[in-house]
Amino acid sequence: MELTDIKGVGPKMLKNLHDLNINTTEDLLTNFPYRYDIFEPVILDENYNNERIAINVLVETTPTVAYIKRNFNKLQFRCNHNNKTMYAVIFNRAFLKNNITLGKTITLIGKYDYQKNTFICDDIKLNPLINKQILPIYHTKKDFKNSDMRKIIASALDDAAALKNYIPLSLIEKYEFPSKKQAIRMIHNPHDFEEIQKASLFFKYEELFLFMFKVTYMKKENANIYKEEKYFNDEDINNFIKSLPFNLTNSQEEALGLILTDLKSNKKMNRLVLGDVGSGKTIISFIAMYANFLAGYQSVLMAPTEVLAKQHYESALNYFKNTNLKISLLVGNQTKREKQAVLDNLLNGNIDILIGTHAIIEENVKFYRLGLVITDEQHRFGVKQREILKSKGEIPDALYMSATPIPRSYALTLYGDLDVSFITQKPSGRREIITKIKKYSELKEVLTHILNEIKNNHQVYVVASLIDDNEELDLKSVETLKDKFNLAFKNKIPIEILHGKLSSREKEAIMERFKNNETKILISTTVIEVGVDVKNATIMVIFDANRFGLATLHQLRGRVGRNDLASYCYLICDEETARLKVLEESNDGFYISQKDLELRGEGDLFGIRQSGVKTFKIANLKTDTKLLMQAKADSEEYLNSKEYKNNLSYYKIIKELDRLN
Ligand code: ADP
Ligand code: MG
Repeated sequence: MELTDIKGVGPKMLKNLHDLNINTTEDLLTNFPYRYDIFEPVILDENYNNERIAINVLVETTPTVAYIKRNFNKLQFRCNHNNKTMYAVIFNRAFLKNNITLGKTITLIGKYDYQKNTFICDDIKLNPLINKQILPIYHTKKDFKNSDMRKIIASALDDAAALKNYIPLSLIEKYEFPSKKQAIRMIHNPHDFEEIQKASLFFKYEELFLFMFKVTYMKKENANIYKEEKYFNDEDINNFIKSLPFNLTNSQEEALGLILTDLKSNKKMNRLVLGDVGSGKTIISFIAMYANFLAGYQSVLMAPTEVLAKQHYESALNYFKNTNLKISLLVGNQTKREKQAVLDNLLNGNIDILIGTHAIIEENVKFYRLGLVITDEQHRFGVKQREILKSKGEIPDALYMSATPIPRSYALTLYGDLDVSFITQKPSGRREIITKIKKYSELKEVLTHILNEIKNNHQVYVVASLIDDNEELDLKSVETLKDKFNLAFKNKIPIEILHGKLSSREKEAIMERFKNNETKILISTTVIEVGVDVKNATIMVIFDANRFGLATLHQLRGRVGRNDLASYCYLICDEETARLKVLEESNDGFYISQKDLELRGEGDLFGIRQSGVKTFKIANLKTDTKLLMQAKADSEEYLNSKEYKNNLSYYKIIKELDRLN
């Protein structure tokens, strides 16, 4: 059934639905309510003072309508409830006038005002409620009423195509799930709580099972992709490592060991390196690129921002200065001629390592012999972007790096299609970043500390609180802060601001001046969140810290403490929250993510939202952990089962589903 076949769906409704990203009947039926309103008509008494309730009344007068303003009217009538006369008022429902007739029993929903003996309705049911009624509430939009959504969903409830079942039969039996048809009815039109619970469990499980099945399937699939083995001499690698200004940590060595083994193997590498900010992932990727070069292949490293790409490029030039590797940069703001030169050299094989932003995935970027694809801060890229990059070589090895600290069990589940290495150690010599929550009234202390650090020739990051989707506000908040700081420091300290609206050229220049210690304080939005490395910075001040998720705060904090200088992080916030205290307590990203999970606050928490993993419609990764693990175990079992082997089209169905989503 097409959406347009549904009773009540005309062109206007169709547009409303499209706006909500509902494009098929299946989308409509899996557009689940986000909550329910429960009504049970009551007999009014003083206990219900100021509570939203439903009462049944007998209409005693024909309603009158007062038109107060354009788009504002008031409908009023007298009625009788439980042998008591009272008045009822409802706004902007003049159109109900003719339906509210003398002697009719109707249900009023709203609040009773004792003093005025008036019931202020927010809704009126012309068919009176007799029993408890559970009303699903959907996300809609302006001019699109929930009652309309309920109506069209009711007309679509029986659509066979949309009721296709995706949970394998054996599992439906195992969990005694209702049929999909029943579950759809229960979630949209539940008779009681139990039905809501049953149905939401069904859909959560369906969602998690499909996801985990795909992950498990891909893992199996990936394990069977063969490529040419890469030959290189370990001695050469060791010599390169010896040339570094530091020794690798055990964690780094372990991760590197696995990567080198992957490169040498005849199976394609698909490895994710998860390591806290500052744990030294970059050098690991450089060594991998070196090995890949020795084996005769080109490498590409993709970073999410130009600032970061440039920084990697410069470190690469530095680390490889005593080798004959040819390294190039490709970013959006190069001239056409510069870009063309890079493209030509890339195709000729005159470039061994290409570093860049997503400019790298453009179609005209072609390699001579690509053997290794590295994605830094992989959570910043969509799956599509990563796929395109991989398709540029024959069968290149793929290495992903991420600083999103998510608990180990989650990482192994959500990234189950990859091999995951954890870097748990920080390079030695690092001190813990001393973190303190400060109230606005204590700002003076912070400013004094900033001044002292600057006198010692150190530098300071300041992050302005911002609301993600309000660019205007961002700008204002960083600029206001700059003014405040200038006032406090009597314009004597070079301060600059950095935000997403600047051109990349401007951003670069600003970063350059900060790196060169010309600028002492850098006030920015979260642009600096990703990977920026300025070793001389020793203080990070984050305003309105409670607005950020712990994962983000931890990443921001990681911008300081990048060498052996004592470093500090101030979280400016007037509220005392247990969440922020976790940051005072610990510098360990994996610990913080675990705590964050336990505290179950709002927001992106331990970064699942930014982890690049698809978001779920009804399942909640924070609260449905058990179900997720169950789905993981079930999907593995199913993939090895006879049932699956007899039903090999199953993966196709799921792929199809993906295409639809
Ligand atoms: P991240 O894991 O956040 O990407 P980076 O790779 O940027 O971290 O490393 C942070 C800093 O630590 C860099 O300046 C890097 O040179 C340095 N570093 C990396 N490994 C070591 C090590 N084993 N010992 C000392 N410093 C290191
Ligand atoms: Mg990094």
